[in-house]
Amino acid sequence: LRGVVALDGPSGTGKSTVARRLASSLGACYLDTGSMYRAVTVAVLRAGVDPADAAAVTRVAAASRLVLGTDPARPSTALDGEDVAAAIRGQDVTLAVSAVSAVPEVRAQLVAEQRRIIAEALAGGGIVVEGRDIGTVVAPDAGLKVYLTASAEARAQRRSRQDVAAGRTATVDATLADVERRDRLDSTRAVSPLRRAEDAVELDTTDLDVAEVLTLLLDLAER
Ligand code: C5P
Repeated sequence: LRGVVALDGPSGTGKSTVARRLASSLGACYLDTGSMYRAVTVAVLRAGVDPADAAAVTRVAAASRLVLGTDPARPSTALDGEDVAAAIRGQDVTLAVSAVSAVPEVRAQLVAEQRRIIAEALAGGGIVVEGRDIGTVVAPDAGLKVYLTASAEARAQRRSRQDVAAGRTATVDATLADVERRDRLDSTRAVSPLRRAEDAVELDTTDLDVAEVLTLLLDLAER
């Protein structure tokens, strides 16, 4: 692959799994932008800062050093030199990340960093970038934009299966409530709301498994 594949959509659409596998299949780099917002959230919580305090959140973000590994075989997220792969998946982080990612200064900082990572990857080939605003804001010139959707129920089912696999327990009902809460927060905020780019291909994954989605994406990427 040469160029950028932008993969956007809400959580639980299977986005991360297919984005990673797509990058591997295409011999491309992989960037999970959600893990960057999550890492800043880890820093905010560790600093004891209220995620709703935009000025304080901005200061913590500016002082945080993020390093993202873009090899799809072993993606990594480091915060100030520490591997935070496990911490960014914590329930406390999932609850606070929407507030942190709603701060315009945090978005500006991370979008700039994402563009830098993309430019670096493009020098050597291609990159699959997943998030909420990749096709609209981060990489509006991406060669392929895909917007993944799935019913809220299907997304909650997937999330709770991931939680069980990670050793966490949450009922599907609780997970559905969280998925819906985060969708609401992510799509109604003023800055960079979650929305489909006009030129994105929309793919509903409700009744598709990972292999089926991957086949469709590979077909689109190779066109
Ligand atoms: O993809 P993931 O669920 O890990 O993203 C966590 C949160 O980070 C999202 O709920 C959203 O608030 C935020 N996010 C964002 N823009 C992105 C990626 C993630 O605002 N490009």
